[in-house]
Amino acid sequence: MLNNMYPLEVMFENEHGKIMKQKVEYEWKPVLCSRCRNFRHELSECRMKLKEETRNTEMNKEQQMGKINQAPTN
Ligand SMILES: [Zn+2]
Repeated sequence: MLNNMYPLEVMFENEHGKIMKQKVEYEWKPVLCSRCRNFRHELSECRMKLKEETRNTEMNKEQQMGKINQAPTN
């Protein structure tokens, strides 16, 4: 559930060895990237996705160049 993914409180031991509860405040919008499953960014901002798209674009360019080069030149 969402509440478990984004805990509002965390437990920690203070300097006196006492277990304390600390409220957690998220400064960032809790988003989960569906590509690399990292928080802090959405799929549209995913670096992994951008990297892949850049690579694909470069590959497409190479393929297009290859087609042109393979065209018969009579
Ligand atoms: Zn991502």
